[in-house]
Amino acid sequence: MKFTPYWLDTVPQGPDRSRTEIGGHVDVAIVGAGLTGLSAALHLARKGADVQVFERETVGWGASGRNGGMATTGLSIGFRDAVSRYGLDTAKAYLLAYQDAVDTIEKLVGDEGIDCDFARTGKLNLASKPAHFDGLRKTHEVLSGQLGFETRLVGRSELRSEIGSDNFHGAMVDAKSAGLHVGKFTRGLAEAAARAGAVIHEKAPVVQVRRLGGTRHELVTARGTVRADRVLVATSGYTGRPFRWQQVRIAPVGSFIIVTEPLGEDVCDELLPTRRMASTSKNLLNYFRITPDHRLLFGGRARFTVSNPQSDEKCGRILQKGMAEVFPRLADARVDYCWGGLVDMSMDRMVHAGERDGLFYSLGYSGHGVQMATHMGKQMAEHLNGAADANPWRDLSFKRIPGHVGPPWFLPFAGAYYKFKDLVK
Ligand SMILES: Cc1cc2nc3c(=O)[nH]c(=O)nc-3n(C[C@H](O)[C@H](O)[C@H](O)COP(=O)(O)OP(=O)(O)OC[C@H]3O[C@@H](n4cnc5c(N)ncnc54)[C@H](O)[C@@H]3O)c2cc1C
Repeated sequence: MKFTPYWLDTVPQGPDRSRTEIGGHVDVAIVGAGLTGLSAALHLARKGADVQVFERETVGWGASGRNGGMATTGLSIGFRDAVSRYGLDTAKAYLLAYQDAVDTIEKLVGDEGIDCDFARTGKLNLASKPAHFDGLRKTHEVLSGQLGFETRLVGRSELRSEIGSDNFHGAMVDAKSAGLHVGKFTRGLAEAAARAGAVIHEKAPVVQVRRLGGTRHELVTARGTVRADRVLVATSGYTGRPFRWQQVRIAPVGSFIIVTEPLGEDVCDELLPTRRMASTSKNLLNYFRITPDHRLLFGGRARFTVSNPQSDEKCGRILQKGMAEVFPRLADARVDYCWGGLVDMSMDRMVHAGERDGLFYSLGYSGHGVQMATHMGKQMAEHLNGAADANPWRDLSFKRIPGHVGPPWFLPFAGAYYKFKDLVK
């Protein structure tokens, strides 16, 4: 079993960017070479800006190379919760931002010719308990009936047409969500940004940030110091000390994934005949999909902990058990890959983007960042160029996580709370 992300293991290596020269002055410095940073770099470079990206590790090393590759159209808090928090009109605007975000990926894939198996397979939202299907029905009534979105309900008796499992009590199909090979997409985005003129520095952690005035900053990296007129912080769940204000507003929650051996098309036809991606309705949910080479990818927040080699292995075993519960025929399937990554959870599980102390930032995707990080890279490119209105999340206040001072000591308590909620609700 490999403990590296399947996505990064099945994409050709990009050029070595760890020996580039760092110094001088740039228009825009971007910290983090994930989907947010790379998309922002591409869109800014297209407009003629002198852009440089500084990445602690390598392109796509963070959550962008470690996720489920599911570009879904829903909000992480769910539409009905969004309506009760923000009212129908605002909730609708937020939801539309997610639809736009999937379109942004589709457009980039087309415009830049990124070969990444992008497909609008749609997604199944599976009811883990009978009462959860009532909730899906209400959501469907609002989304489809009132807002005209493409959703469809599948009752328990017809569910076998969508999934080879008897564990669920119905589903809501969202037809517009898309699956993609995120390794190929992230690397493709890096190449597109470089073609447009952006410079990407790998193995270049930003260790210190000094404000020079307004939005001008000096960034000290492990390989040199650079001055920038504007800086975009795109570090998601990996945000550290130099960006303290953002760091204490984000809980870095581990999420873990296993990928089986290739199962063949026939077995995949039994598991997920329509090839839709899926997620369950519990608080500690599971998500799964078929990969382009016919493996099952199965993920979840197996334990509320950070990701490290020991924890990834333990989580892998928990996920394997969960996968066999959903698909008993996979009880003996070999697991070829197991890895973990950090999800950037904000207090309200909403995206937060804007400017603070002269630094621009976009993070808090709360597990829904494949599409939104890519989209926000594009929108923040406009924001940096003066169009603050391009940022759909500009009115949300970004609250500090109480008691969060750096290391996420509170994760086991949060995990116990959500386990309890799943038992009673
Ligand atoms: C296991 C897992 C499964 C997920 N599944 C899905 C999914 O199926 N669908 C979905 O929509 N979302 C999913 N997500 C969330 C999604 O992957 C993220 O929201 C998204 O990739 C965030 O992109 P980003 O560019 O903002 O951050 P990242 O991709 O995390 O990039 C941040 C980068 O910043 C770098 N960095 C940090 N500090 C510094 C520094 N000081 N100097 C230089 N570089 C620095 C890091 O090394 C990292 O590479 C998942 C996340 C995980 C972890």
